[in-house]
Amino acid sequence: MLCNDEMRKGILSRLHGYRFEHTLGCERAAKFLAGRYGGDAEKCAFAAVLHDMTKQLSKEEQLNLCEKYGIIPCNVEKNEPKMLHGKTAAALALDEYGAPQDVADAIACHTTGKAKMTLLDKILYLADYIEDTRDFPGVEKARELAEQDIDRALLYCFDQTLIELIGRGKLIHSDTIAAYNDLVGQGVCWRDA
Ligand code: FE
Ligand code: FE
Repeated sequence: MLCNDEMRKGILSRLHGYRFEHTLGCERAAKFLAGRYGGDAEKCAFAAVLHDMTKQLSKEEQLNLCEKYGIIPCNVEKNEPKMLHGKTAAALALDEYGAPQDVADAIACHTTGKAKMTLLDKILYLADYIEDTRDFPGVEKARELAEQDIDRALLYCFDQTLIELIGRGKLIHSDTIAAYNDLVGQGVCWRDA
């Protein structure tokens, strides 16, 4: 067993308020998507429980963890240190919770996406986006697509994220562009023909 009840409770006890509710929602969504797309439900749920474990950390704490685990922030991450929470949570998942590498990899890319995402990567990314407590424009469409086709749903999420970042004048991580290009390059399209 990857994560027994006691370990799960221990991880969840580090989360507070909205982050706690969001993580439980993400765990439910990850299990649903695992069932829908033939993913490993145990790994998907474990990744979901761990994915935002370091999100509440300060900029300094985030950068200290990077230093400790040899994570070298890119220019975009230096500008937006919160973006590092996927990578720092992945490092802790491996080091403190004995997570398998593929679970850690999914956690590491849950904020930005990346090219050549595995089914586990895709499930965590999408679960994080569509879970029940989410309430932003477009989430209903993402949920609808998530029931139909995981790649179309994923591309919809990247499209919305890119549009939103550009709208706010924010930097875009190169991994998000790589994720978008990878899906579009494969002929994925979420719009109805
Ligand atoms: Fe996150
Ligand atoms: Fe999250």
